[in-house]
Amino acid sequence: MTPDQVRRWKKENAPEEEFTTQVIRALNLLAFVTVWRTKRRQGARKSDDLDGVLDIGGHAAPDGIAIYVETKRSCKDGCVCASCTAQRVFAERATGAGCVVVTGVRSVQQAVDGVRMGLARRRGLERSTA
Ligand SMILES: [Zn+2]
Repeated sequence: MTPDQVRRWKKENAPEEEFTTQVIRALNLLAFVTVWRTKRRQGARKSDDLDGVLDIGGHAAPDGIAIYVETKRSCKDGCVCASCTAQRVFAERATGAGCVVVTGVRSVQQAVDGVRMGLARRRGLERSTA
């Protein structure tokens, strides 16, 4: 295969990678939001799944609120496999710590709305308890 063909093959066979890239691009357009891919593109480490690491991580300035986003996986909702369970535990812990966590993302808009609402809610809470 030529390099071009290889590139095309990779693109067609990694729709989730492409989608994650689109979500990251859209979130980084939000004011004061910086996010990045947490996992390696290729040859993801096994421990990533077991640690419950979500696809996208980042933060919002100036209050430093952590942001975690996970795109919808091939598993069904409520799946209890080791990696889904680890992610659920991580998401619950992060939410409890006051981070903005958006999981099960199926569209770029859903990710953008989720992070926006999460930040608004978090900042609203902070104001009301201050
Ligand atoms: Zn699963």
